[in-house]
Amino acid sequence: MSDEKTKTALLREELMNEPKDAKSLSAETIAEADSFCEGYKAFLNDAPVEREAVSFALNAAKEAGFTAFDPNASYKCGDRVYLVNRDKAIALAVIGKNGVKNGARLAIAHIDSPRIDLKPNPLYEANNLALFKTHYYGGLKKYQWTAIPLSLHGVVVKLDGTRVDVKWGDEPDESCFCVTDLLPHLAQEQVTKPMAKAFTGEDLNVLVGSRPYPDAEDEKELVKLNVMSILNEKYGITEGDFLSAELCLVPTFKAKDIGFDRSMIGGYGHDDKVCAYPALMAALNTVEPEQTCITYLTDKEEIGSDGNTGMQSDFLRYFIYDLAAQDGVMGYRALSQSTCLSADVNAAFDPTYASAFEAKNSCYLGSGVVISKYTGHGGKYDTSDASAEYMGKVRALLENNDIQWQIGELGRVDLGGGGTIAKYVANMNVDVIDLGVPVLSMHAPFEIVSKTDVFMAYRAFYEFFAEA
Ligand code: MN
Ligand code: MN
Repeated sequence: MSDEKTKTALLREELMNEPKDAKSLSAETIAEADSFCEGYKAFLNDAPVEREAVSFALNAAKEAGFTAFDPNASYKCGDRVYLVNRDKAIALAVIGKNGVKNGARLAIAHIDSPRIDLKPNPLYEANNLALFKTHYYGGLKKYQWTAIPLSLHGVVVKLDGTRVDVKWGDEPDESCFCVTDLLPHLAQEQVTKPMAKAFTGEDLNVLVGSRPYPDAEDEKELVKLNVMSILNEKYGITEGDFLSAELCLVPTFKAKDIGFDRSMIGGYGHDDKVCAYPALMAALNTVEPEQTCITYLTDKEEIGSDGNTGMQSDFLRYFIYDLAAQDGVMGYRALSQSTCLSADVNAAFDPTYASAFEAKNSCYLGSGVVISKYTGHGGKYDTSDASAEYMGKVRALLENNDIQWQIGELGRVDLGGGGTIAKYVANMNVDVIDLGVPVLSMHAPFEIVSKTDVFMAYRAFYEFFAEA
């Protein structure tokens, strides 16, 4: 038998588009991906909430020679600067040979993830239990957050203006917290309700104590008093200080390899740290690019990108204006010639829920970085639909650099939908397309990604920055 391909096979190769699955990857690439992901897991464990992600990125940037951006300084090719927005978003720029005269290269990911925030007045006592009232943040299936260990992260600003950083529950010997659920024995009414009604937002109450304050002279709210006294001892705060705080609950569990083959990572907050980390690493490893390259890690994406630390804020625009002023060009001209990879996750095809997807236009775990020309819902509402020209450029970039990639729509048409920051970037007159990592169980407390996909995201951002 001859190994020679038939004419038909050759024609098929030439004309048909076959997506590249994991079989196309070399052992070296897989090993490189595995090693890259060790760094990613450390980031995930260290930085479940946006302020922590900013401080992780800031420390890494300082180590890599980045300095605080000074609008009055003049920078040359290869200089590396950072600009932090209210401790909740950070821009990292590597100055290019042409500065921003011909536009900047932007990679933008978000560092907030769905979670449970405390209400302004959270602490109460009921039936000798102390609990927190909460308000969930982002799109979550509420039942997934019951009966799992949670830790408390955030900041409290006291009346004298001092800020206290709070982190409770992550250490193995530390206590943690939990939302209770109803036992199956008494859940006959609950289990027959539609999912959205079986567990409501007001049911997300977090158990934080059950012992009364000792040696008390009266009986009034002693469990609550005991909790307040512990918090006061540890953080020096009083109940009123909750009014000026940002505290949230996130899963306590750490990122773990998934599968007998360790090919995947399970963890909290892949959306969108799994794009933020590769985009951060691409900025740190970029040296003397043609155009100034900016990785921007933004906040508030999960709740619509509103607010001064979200993508709808003018923060990034002003930063680019400042860079443009140094290069002697109008800010809007620099912006109008800029190009962007909106670095966000997409839903990986899940064989268990196959009917939610359209198989030919979905992305698959392990099949590489995913490009989404558009997201949105219904008849392409609320999205930036990238042009064929820009899609063509990005496609060529990936192909020319041998980066495993695929396209992906977010599920079946008219089933639901979702958005990314791409449309806000596009509205600034920037060419932008979504490029990110496929995720299983997106927005669950424990999401799944493929290690090689994470690495391909890094390679995509890196080559995007490196391109002339
Ligand atoms: Mn996202
Ligand atoms: Mn999301």
